[in-house]
Amino acid sequence: MTNSVLIVGASVAGVGAANELRRGGFRGEITLMDGQPHLPYDRPPLSKAGLVDPASSGFHFHDAGYYARSDISLLLGVRVQSLDTASRTVKLESGKEFAADAVIIATGARARPFPQEAGAGKVHLLRDFDDALALRSDLSHGKRLAIIGGGFIGAEVASSAVDLGASVVLIEAAGQPFERLLGNNVAGRLAALHSERGIELKCGSAVDRIATAENGERTLFLANGEVVTADVVLAGLGSLPNAEWLNQSALALKNGVICDEHGNTNVHGVYAAGDVAAWLDVRTGVHERHEHWTAAREQGRIVAQRILGTHDSAWSEFVPYFWSDFHGKRVQMLGTSRGATAVEYVFDDNVKKAFVAEYRKDGILVGVVGCNAGARTMRYAGQLAEAVVRPSA
Ligand SMILES: Cc1cc2nc3c(=O)[nH]c(=O)nc-3n(C[C@H](O)[C@H](O)[C@H](O)COP(=O)(O)OP(=O)(O)OC[C@H]3O[C@@H](n4cnc5c(N)ncnc54)[C@H](O)[C@@H]3O)c2cc1C
Repeated sequence: MTNSVLIVGASVAGVGAANELRRGGFRGEITLMDGQPHLPYDRPPLSKAGLVDPASSGFHFHDAGYYARSDISLLLGVRVQSLDTASRTVKLESGKEFAADAVIIATGARARPFPQEAGAGKVHLLRDFDDALALRSDLSHGKRLAIIGGGFIGAEVASSAVDLGASVVLIEAAGQPFERLLGNNVAGRLAALHSERGIELKCGSAVDRIATAENGERTLFLANGEVVTADVVLAGLGSLPNAEWLNQSALALKNGVICDEHGNTNVHGVYAAGDVAAWLDVRTGVHERHEHWTAAREQGRIVAQRILGTHDSAWSEFVPYFWSDFHGKRVQMLGTSRGATAVEYVFDDNVKKAFVAEYRKDGILVGVVGCNAGARTMRYAGQLAEAVVRPSA
């Protein structure tokens, strides 16, 4: 019988799990802890409207009173250092210990840093609220921003920086941003959105080294010999799971916390959800971290349902989904492009720069990408869910 649940990490997965427990009628103790001092907040706005105006409201999942009203003990500014799996006891950096019948690990991920060498100077990363404040305070009209990495964080920050009147150079090691994820053609259309807003794209070469002059000017040396000068540098190079605090525990770790398709770890009563967790995909047999908001929320809910014993949602039926907003467009993807053998535009409005592209593997729909075509894209959710539940091969 589970009478107490301890959740480490108060973001989408952790807060979602706590809410689902209460919604499902759990009457025991819920303790939700986070290393950050801020009231739990959502990360997607940090690179979008929230970067342009960090004072704007709308970051927080709930107001301060919500947690007390829901009888959730919220402990903020407490960094967890280790987990004793046998007794399900976490130890804080302060030395204080907390034990519970069930532990949910929801410590997410952090931004992968740019390798620091002497002289590289400050390279901004963007994962937390304080990162957004620091980046925003260095960005203003006329500043030159160099972004290393043309993925979602890079694209969204580029867009926000242009809104703020900065000039932007976006450096991508691949042939073009999103090439690997979306294929050449769709990636090319998204790259065009950058160019149309005056962003200079430098693709096909990585940044080798950064030098900082005495006046603060930054020089980025690319592997192909090109040079970019800037006032501010941001690296958007993906993320790393926050799992080091579990290194001494009995948990199976490999690029995150290894879990089955229900969020169970290899230790009874210990679960993991969200960006830190590598859940089993029963169709492929692969453990994978998803690193997108919807997957983190869903995993938090599934783990809570596991503890409640209700099992309303199943990960094997989840259709991967993410969205991204840049240059006034919303890009959405359902399913996957992995292994796709054909891409076809089924809707294309050149004037509005809106499109929907289907990804098929040997004739079978595996994913869809839409740009500024929300309803047309989301219409595929049912079809892709059926494909997930009844895989063809
Ligand atoms: C700038 C930005 C924009 C994004 N935009 C989108 C988007 O548009 N669409 C989309 O699908 N996804 C987006 N994402 C990804 C999405 O936000 C993440 O997938 C989601 O936040 C993962 O949630 P999580 O709960 O697993 O972990 P996280 O949000 O990473 O939170 C983990 C929490 O655990 C805490 N923690 C870590 N270690 C410890 C410790 N040892 N002790 C105590 N607390 C600890 C951290 O302080 C943090 O609050 C974006 C991410 C970022 C950073």
